[in-house]
Amino acid sequence: MRVLLTGGAGFIGSHIALLLLERGFDVIILDSFVNSSSIVINRIKTFLQNKDLKSKFEYIKGDIRDKNILDNIFIKSIKECKPIDTVIHLAGLKSVSDSLTNPLHYWDVNVRGTLNLLLSMKEYECYSLVFSSSATIYGLSDSVPMSEDHKILPINPYGQTKVAIENMFYDLFNSNIKLWKICSLRYFNPVGAHSSGLIGEDPVGIPNNLFPFLTQVAIGRQKILKVFGDDWDTKDGSGVRDYIHIIDLADGHLASIDYLNSNDSCLEFINLGSGHGYSVFQIIRQFELTTGRKIPFSIQGRRDGDVAKCYADISKAKKLLGWTPKRSLEQICLDGWNWQIKNPNGYC
Ligand code: NAD
Ligand code: UDP
Repeated sequence: MRVLLTGGAGFIGSHIALLLLERGFDVIILDSFVNSSSIVINRIKTFLQNKDLKSKFEYIKGDIRDKNILDNIFIKSIKECKPIDTVIHLAGLKSVSDSLTNPLHYWDVNVRGTLNLLLSMKEYECYSLVFSSSATIYGLSDSVPMSEDHKILPINPYGQTKVAIENMFYDLFNSNIKLWKICSLRYFNPVGAHSSGLIGEDPVGIPNNLFPFLTQVAIGRQKILKVFGDDWDTKDGSGVRDYIHIIDLADGHLASIDYLNSNDSCLEFINLGSGHGYSVFQIIRQFELTTGRKIPFSIQGRRDGDVAKCYADISKAKKLLGWTPKRSLEQICLDGWNWQIKNPNGYC
């Protein structure tokens, strides 16, 4: 089977790429490298050599807003008599704060880019899609765990673009129920790294998210972790989130492909999380325990737009996909730290 993986050089995409290749899929990565390094491609090639895998891997540098590039990928694969069976679409912009400053850019890349992709898929008769949606679409709410029928109420342009894309899927599916097979996966907080330490999370600039910030404090790239609030309505006063090991998340995509292959047509919106909520203090404690590194932290005021608790109800993913996350918080800390010590400055 051949998979087109847009955004495949990014944090999530690179991990999905390794799993796909390991399981014998042919993979074409399309990425503009606007938020990733081309070194990722070398790491994927190293992985293939180390494991002596026979899967075919190619990458194309290009922008999903350029329809010619998309068309050419589909045309070439048809000419090779190996048409693309499924698209996993991750290419897009993901910073909430950046989306508040540059909303049009987010609509352009995320929404127009996805529209382009769907147009090409339709033209070249590839109807199977796995999409990277986000728990951000649920908006501000402390009502946990969140199931897929939780109220959709995004509070920033980034979340709005994900909702707009999901709405496109509704319209498309309803226009021709017999053809399309779509899983829109709503991710919670993917963290950690591949156990090889070859690939991991390497945010540009100062990390906004807790886990990469914490590993950078541990390695000495950041001085001190700021804890945004110890007065939330939670067990210990710090914010609670659903941290899922990146390999468990990547596995959810393979399970989704299996699901699409065994169905005639479908449109499903599915949460991917661990199903557990962990507080900031719990994460710090577990990281210290697992790695033996002390994490200096200071308590700050609450961050704008935060909620006390957010974690997933994952019963739909378990039932529909037969998928269940297997990796513990300890494993997340072990693998995240292994990546950080092997790559103290990220991909460079
Ligand atoms: P990432 O930034 O590491 O990966 C996205 C990739 O897309 C990058 O390699 C980037 O270069 C590429 N890209 C961006 N614009 C492009 C364009 N116009 N054309 C081609 N390539 C382009 O982000 P990630 O964490 O791997 O996230 C992947 C997807 O999952 C994103 O769509 C994101 O919104 C979604 N998501 C991520 C999280 C998270 O916490 N990481 C949570 C929910 C949803
Ligand atoms: N957080 C923190 N310090 C940081 C980054 C995040 O205390 O430097 C907290 C944040 O307030 C939230 C949790 O850690 O309670 C997870 O934040 P993250 O940005 O990683 O995920 P999100 O809030 O987007 O789900």
